[in-house]
Amino acid sequence: MEYSGDEYDIIVVGAGIMGSSTAYQTSKRSQKTLLLEQFDFLHHRGSSHGESRTIRATYPEDYYTPLVMESYKLWQQAESEIGYNVYFKAHQLDMAPANDKVLHAVVESCRKNSVAFRVMNRDQMDQEFSGRVMIPEDWVGVVTEHGGVIKPTKAVSMFQTLALQNGAVLRDNMEVKGVERDRVRGGVWVCTANGERFWGKKCVVTVGAWTTKLVKTVGGVELPIQPLETTVCYWRIKEGHEGGFAIGGDFPTFASYGNPYIYGTPSLEYPGLIKVAVHGGYPCDPDNRPWGPGNPLAPLKEWIEGRFSGVVDSGGPVATQLCMYSMTPDEDFVIDFLGGEFGKDVVVGGGFSGHGFKMSPVVGRILADLALTGEAQGVELKHFRIARFQENPKGNAKHFL
Ligand SMILES: Cc1cc2nc3c(=O)[nH]c(=O)nc-3n(C[C@H](O)[C@H](O)[C@H](O)COP(=O)(O)OP(=O)(O)OC[C@H]3O[C@@H](n4cnc5c(N)ncnc54)[C@H](O)[C@@H]3O)c2cc1C
Repeated sequence: MEYSGDEYDIIVVGAGIMGSSTAYQTSKRSQKTLLLEQFDFLHHRGSSHGESRTIRATYPEDYYTPLVMESYKLWQQAESEIGYNVYFKAHQLDMAPANDKVLHAVVESCRKNSVAFRVMNRDQMDQEFSGRVMIPEDWVGVVTEHGGVIKPTKAVSMFQTLALQNGAVLRDNMEVKGVERDRVRGGVWVCTANGERFWGKKCVVTVGAWTTKLVKTVGGVELPIQPLETTVCYWRIKEGHEGGFAIGGDFPTFASYGNPYIYGTPSLEYPGLIKVAVHGGYPCDPDNRPWGPGNPLAPLKEWIEGRFSGVVDSGGPVATQLCMYSMTPDEDFVIDFLGGEFGKDVVVGGGFSGHGFKMSPVVGRILADLALTGEAQGVELKHFRIARFQENPKGNAKHFL
C-alpha cells in the first residue's frame, strides 16, 4: 500500500449528502479535511441524487422536529454562502383517517415543539385547496407552514463546492477498502482500492446503503441497515390545471399515512408533472442492483384518482427514477462512534431510512461535533445509538405503531 504522505484532521468516507455536509462543516471549522467517494461525484447510484426531497417538521417522533428546525437555518446559511437556492418553500399537508395513531402523534409532537398547525376536515380541506385535494369523509388534514422542497443533487454539489472553498480536498473514484487503527501514534489509516493510504486524526463514515458492509469490514460490527431499491414516480397534470399544482403558489408538499405511506411534492423539476411516490421498496444489494421492477403502481393510481379529483392522470407515471434507501428496523438514524478498538476516532452516520435528506445540514453538524469534540452540542443522541439494537433487535419502540 502506498502512503500518499497526506495527513488530515478528518477523513470523510462517502460523498453523498451526509458526507458532503460533514466535510463542509469540518472544513468550515478550519480542520484539514479529505472527502473520499467510490464513484464519480454526483453519481446516481446511491441515495442523494435526483431533483426533489421534501422537508417537513411533522414527525410522530418528537425528537426529529428540533433537528428539522435547526436544518432550516443551516440550509439558509449555506445558501447565503454559495449564492444560490436549493430550498423552495411550501406548506406541508399531512393527511390520514381521523383516528390514525401516527397523525395523532404528529399533532402531539407539533404541540410539544411549538410548531403551529391547523387540523381540517374534508370540507375545510376542500375550501383550503379549492378542490385540488379531496380526502374521504372520515379523514383529516394537518397543515403547517414548515414544508418545502430541496433539490438534492444541487444541494450535494453546494456542500462539496463550499467544502472545496474552505480548503477541503475532494477525491472521487476512491473506494475505501479499510480503516485501520494507527497503534503507534493514534488516529487511523484509511486505505483505498487503488492502493493509497491516508492518515487521519479522525474518520467519519457516511456510506449510505454500503454502511453494513463497510462497518462490518472495518469494525466487525453488524448493523441492521437494509438497503432497499425504491421508485420515484412523476404523473401528468391535466392540461389547464398545471398552475394549481406548481411550487410557489399555495400547493403543499404532502404525505398520506397508512399502508402504503404516500408522499409527494408540488410540480417543480418537470413543469406539468407532479411527484407522487410510495415510501418503501424492495431489498437490494447496492453492489448488484436489480434496477427494477419498481414499486407496485396500483396503490398510487388509486390514491391519485381519489385525492386529485381526476385532474392528475392516474393511468401511469410518465417518468420514473430508481434510488436506494438504507433502512433501520425502527427507521431511526444511526449516529454514533464505532467504538471497539477505534473508540471515538471513527464516527458512523447511516441508516437514514428514506427521510434523512432534509436534516443533512444538522447531521453534518453533529457528525463534525462528534469527530472533533467527542460530543454533539445540544442534541440528545440516544435514539440514534448503535447499542439500541443490542438491547432490542427492532430498535426503538414506537408508541404510535
Ligand atoms: C427516492 C428517495 C426519496 C427520498 N425522499 C426524501 C425526502 O423527501 N425527504 C428526506 O428528508 N429524505 C428523503 N430521502 C432520503 C435521503 O435522500 C437519504 O436519507 C440521504 O440521501 C442519504 O444520504 P447518504 O449520504 O447517507 O447516502 P448516499 O447518498 O448513498 O451517500 C453515500 C455515499 O458513499 C459512497 N460510498 C459507499 N461506500 C464507499 C466506500 N467504500 N468508499 C468510498 N465511498 C463510498 C457512495 O458511493 C455514496 O456516494 C429519499 C431517498 C430516496 C432514495
